[in-house]
Amino acid sequence: LGPRQVRGALFTWVRPETQEEPELLAVSPAAMRDLGLAQSEAETDEFRQVVAGNKILGWDPETLSGPGYPWAQCYGGFQFGAWAGQLGDGRAISLFEATNPRTGRRYEVQLKGAGITPYSRFADGKAVLRSSIREFIVSEALHALGIPTTRALAISLLPHSRVRRERVEPGAVVVRFAESWLRFGTFDLLRARGDRALLRRLATYVAEDVLGSWENLPARLDDPDDPAKTPAPARNVPRDAVQGPPGAEENRFARLYREIARRSALAVAKWQVYGFMNGVLNTDNTSVLGLSMDYGPFAFMDAFDPAYTPNHDDYMLRYSYRNQPTVIWWNLVRLGEALGELLGAGPDVDADDFVATGPTEAAAPALVARAERLINAAGEEYKAVFLAEYKRLFAARIGLRGGPRPADFDALFSPLLDTLEALSLDFNLFFRRLSDLRLRDISTPEDRLAQAGRFFYQDQDQNQSGRQRVADWLAVWRERVVQDWGTLEDWGSSFSSADGSGAVSDKADAERMAAMKRVNPNFVPRGWILDEVIRRVEKDGERDVLKRALHMALHPFEDEWAGRVFDGVVYEGDREEE
Ligand code: AMP
Ligand code: MG
Ligand code: MG
Repeated sequence: LGPRQVRGALFTWVRPETQEEPELLAVSPAAMRDLGLAQSEAETDEFRQVVAGNKILGWDPETLSGPGYPWAQCYGGFQFGAWAGQLGDGRAISLFEATNPRTGRRYEVQLKGAGITPYSRFADGKAVLRSSIREFIVSEALHALGIPTTRALAISLLPHSRVRRERVEPGAVVVRFAESWLRFGTFDLLRARGDRALLRRLATYVAEDVLGSWENLPARLDDPDDPAKTPAPARNVPRDAVQGPPGAEENRFARLYREIARRSALAVAKWQVYGFMNGVLNTDNTSVLGLSMDYGPFAFMDAFDPAYTPNHDDYMLRYSYRNQPTVIWWNLVRLGEALGELLGAGPDVDADDFVATGPTEAAAPALVARAERLINAAGEEYKAVFLAEYKRLFAARIGLRGGPRPADFDALFSPLLDTLEALSLDFNLFFRRLSDLRLRDISTPEDRLAQAGRFFYQDQDQNQSGRQRVADWLAVWRERVVQDWGTLEDWGSSFSSADGSGAVSDKADAERMAAMKRVNPNFVPRGWILDEVIRRVEKDGERDVLKRALHMALHPFEDEWAGRVFDGVVYEGDREEE
């Protein structure tokens, strides 16, 4: 089958393949909860058949009727900077939308790897066990870390499937869900088709249906009563950090664009703070809801290297760690261009002739100029939201109580990142080990030098100058923490430092350590951990190892994993989800 070009629509009805004897490998208890399902429901045969694609809820195959029939989405995308044309769900099939009655959140639930669709182009519509395990674990891990992401409910092994990649591998199906699977690439495609009417409908659908209402979007930047109306995602951004373009005449589509820019900024800030790299940030892999999505060659940073990319084909380092904020902005500019006519139209956007035909030739230059101003203003907002969120989280990761101060970036954040890079220290381990460090144990230069050793890998060179560099940073950090947590009232149980620069009570210090452990994971699904899980499931036929890895991913901040991050033994605990 060749690619089918679709016109006037953004999806196609499709039927998942029937799978022989699927084996349910694991179910995420957190996902069950968030979908509003009781844990026991995962035990039923119906559940097993639904998550493998064998039973279609809401569709009666006897009578060929029912409210639900699965579909695959159509979208396009810019891949590595070049327009790639129509792509679409080549191996994802959406089953239904489900609303959690408790939270009111609605999710589009879909299968990945359930067979070809009209968008499979020249591929097979299948997913191998290896990549399915990776997606399953990382979706739930990111969620547990507080990073917005598409989710994973269940993974089934297809024992009779043979999927040809570099070698022949077993196939699998993952059930995943998200409040929306729409991507920037969905808009890109309509722009490429020149389908004005559908583009407008899609933007309206995102605002009204996915985000709930135009009311939920940011108020106009030139709106005098804005501060009260600035909605949730970016409340931490100082109001005056973002200036509207003069005489912008923002219409509702401009506000939608800003909402998407804000959400994107929040997601990228979290990736950067936790050292997460998607690896393929093409516009077809960029969510309009600012969700992390499409897990291919993703990775968590090990030894800190800002130029690192987990994507071996990315020789230009386009999707490297340090480029993620820029490249998401690049994607947002493409989105701005797709929405350009709607953005630039100002109040005219509602005029009947505009809706049908777009701007007249005479009106076009002013429209383009206005769209450009709005996109640039959204860029400033993107930067402001990104920086505010990045600093807020970074401050939390190093245990600052009152949030970041202006001087922290140059005095603490940058020197730390430079040090991690220069010494190849492990990114996430550093913050966790810092959480375990008592201030009373680093009050003298000798103490700091001694404690610096804890941040190095066991087999890593801890040369004197490297340790000294870490110790010097600890001195600056310590002083800053004392400013935040120091108290004179608690003098009874406090210690004072040798240089007399301040004191923190043991009680306050313990509080500081506990707060740090709530934001600094003791477990992130590193590549080698996932490799180990995959090997054991695939080659050794183990099953528990996958469930344990999922359990750790869902409880990344627990102390239990300390000292046995993931050795051959793995975590043997067996606590049940509530
Ligand atoms: P990705 O690189 O995963 O973002 O995928 C890019 C495009 O290729 C999307 O349209 C995917 O649906 C499609 N695709 C990737 N792998 C397969 C496959 N095995 N079968 C069908 N389509 C695929
Ligand atoms: Mg993709
Ligand atoms: Mg993919």
